[in-house]
Amino acid sequence: MQDMKIRCVSCKGEFEFTASEQEYYQRIGLRQPKRCKPCRGKETRYLDTDAIIAFVQAVEDKKGFKRDVRLVFAHLVEETGELARAVYLHEREALVKDYPDPSDIGAELIDIIFLASYLADILRIDLNKQIPERMADIRVQYAVENKKGGGE
Ligand SMILES: [Zn+2]
Repeated sequence: MQDMKIRCVSCKGEFEFTASEQEYYQRIGLRQPKRCKPCRGKETRYLDTDAIIAFVQAVEDKKGFKRDVRLVFAHLVEETGELARAVYLHEREALVKDYPDPSDIGAELIDIIFLASYLADILRIDLNKQIPERMADIRVQYAVENKKGGGE
């Protein structure tokens, strides 16, 4: 592999995508970057999707699973079932205890974030780009004021 030049879609400047970066991106199954590092640094990162996707990809590779939409979707639904169970057990425990430990619920929610991020990547959806757009839509729908958290 050779170093290559990419034109940044934000500032239109050229930046270097080195051979070792290309190897790394290929190894973890990421597409080549569209923005230069300074522009990437300026974006609001709601989620560190690169880190999440690389992590989930590594786990799925270890399990020998393909990057398959139906498989990941089924897994996401299965995790939603686990979340339902964790919430149910928590609510049941809350009947007898003042402060039941919600850490199981946190773990299940994180699994869902992991799989949702991974599924988005397989479908070439950039969540960090769409989160502010989605916020803007919801804001209009519910006439919520624009305080902080993107949109425009
Ligand atoms: Zn740039």
